Amino acid sequence: MECVSQAEKVHSYVVSIRRTLHEYPELSFQEFETAKRIEAELRSMGLSPRRVAGTGVVADIEGAQPGRTVAIRADIDGLPVQEENQVEYASKNKGVMHACGHDAHVAMLLGFAKILVEEKRNIRGRVRLIFQPAEEQPPGGAQQLIKEGVLEGVNYIIGQHVFSNISAGKVAVYYGPLMANSDKFIIRLHGRGGHGSAPHETVDPIVTASYYVTLAQTIVSRRVDPVKAAVVTFGTFNAGYRFNIIAAHAELTGTVRTLDMDTRGLVKAELRRLLEGVCNSMGVSYEFEYEEGYPVVVNNPEVARVVEEAAVDILGRDAVLHPDPVMGGEDFGYYMQRVPGAFYFLGVGNPAKGVTSPQHTPTYNVDEDALKHGVAILCRATERLLSRPS
Ligand code: MN
Repeated sequence: MECVSQAEKVHSYVVSIRRTLHEYPELSFQEFETAKRIEAELRSMGLSPRRVAGTGVVADIEGAQPGRTVAIRADIDGLPVQEENQVEYASKNKGVMHACGHDAHVAMLLGFAKILVEEKRNIRGRVRLIFQPAEEQPPGGAQQLIKEGVLEGVNYIIGQHVFSNISAGKVAVYYGPLMANSDKFIIRLHGRGGHGSAPHETVDPIVTASYYVTLAQTIVSRRVDPVKAAVVTFGTFNAGYRFNIIAAHAELTGTVRTLDMDTRGLVKAELRRLLEGVCNSMGVSYEFEYEEGYPVVVNNPEVARVVEEAAVDILGRDAVLHPDPVMGGEDFGYYMQRVPGAFYFLGVGNPAKGVTSPQHTPTYNVDEDALKHGVAILCRATERLLSRPS
C-alpha cells in the first residue's frame, strides 16, 4: 500500500474527526455518542460495525483473498478533567476532556479504515478494527471485549498511544514490558479508640499505620531485586475524628506497580507479611485487600520488530526511540496475554507549536500533523503483519 501518500490523503478527515470527538468527550463506559459517531463513520465507508460491551465498536475489513487477521485497537474514552485549552474545538462537555489523546487514537484508526476500504482488493487477510471503551477506568473495557469474542481468529494485535512528552516525528518501540502491572490495595486497621489524654487505655491504629507506611518502604529498598522495577505508593491515609480523640480505625489505600509477575507476587506477599508483623506487635487487627489490576503490557519481540521497521520506513532510522518502560497501566495488557502483539508510543509533542502539556492535564493537546505518522505506521505495520509467512 502507498501508506505515506494515503495517510496524506486522509489527513484532513483524521483532523476533522479528531476535533469533533474532542468537542464531545465522554467518560468510561458512557461513550454512547462517541460509539454512534464511530458506527456512522464506518457505515459511511460501507462497513458493518457491531456493538460490544455496550459502547465498544468492532468492524472487520475483509481483503480480496483469505489470510491472517490483524487487530488494531483504539481506546475511545475521555477523562474527568476540565479543559483549559483556548481552541475552537475545546470540549463542550463540562468537566470531561480528551486529555489522554484517545480522540486521536479513534481518528487515526478511522483514517486507516478509509485507506483499507480503498485498498481492499490488494489485501490478503482481514483487519479487525477494535474501538474499545473505558481504558481509563479499571476494570477497563478490554476484558469485556475479549469475553465477547473480539480476539477470535486474531493472529496479531497492535495498538498505538499518542504521547506528548515524545516529539512529533518520533516513535517509542519496546521489545518486552513497557507498562506495568497496576494493582490496588486497601488496608483497614482496627484498634481501640479512647480519650487523647489516656493513650494507655487505647490501641492506637494511627501510630500502627504510621509504622506500617514507613516499614513498607523497605519492600522496594530491601526485598525487591534492585535490577527489577517496583513502586509502592500510599495514596490515602485516613483516620480520626478530632484532635483530642484516639481513633478506633485507620484506612490506607495505595498502588503497586511492577513489570513482571514474580515481583508482583513478592510485593503483595511482603505488604501482607509486614502488616501482620506490625499489627501483631501493636495489638491491632487488620484487613488486607489486594486487587490485581491491569496486567503488564509486554510486547512480542517479533511484532515489535515489525512496528519498528514500519516506523523506520515512514519516519527514518533516527525516529525510533527505545526508552525505559513507564510504570503507568494500560488494559492493552489483557489482549497481549492471548495474542502476540505490540503497543507503541507515537510522539505528538511539539514545543514550537506550544504542544508540551503532559498527558491527563487540562492543557493537554497533540500536534495534529503527527497523526499522519500514526496512520502511515498503522498502515505499514498491518501490511507487513498480513504478509508474514505462517
Ligand atoms: Mn490513555
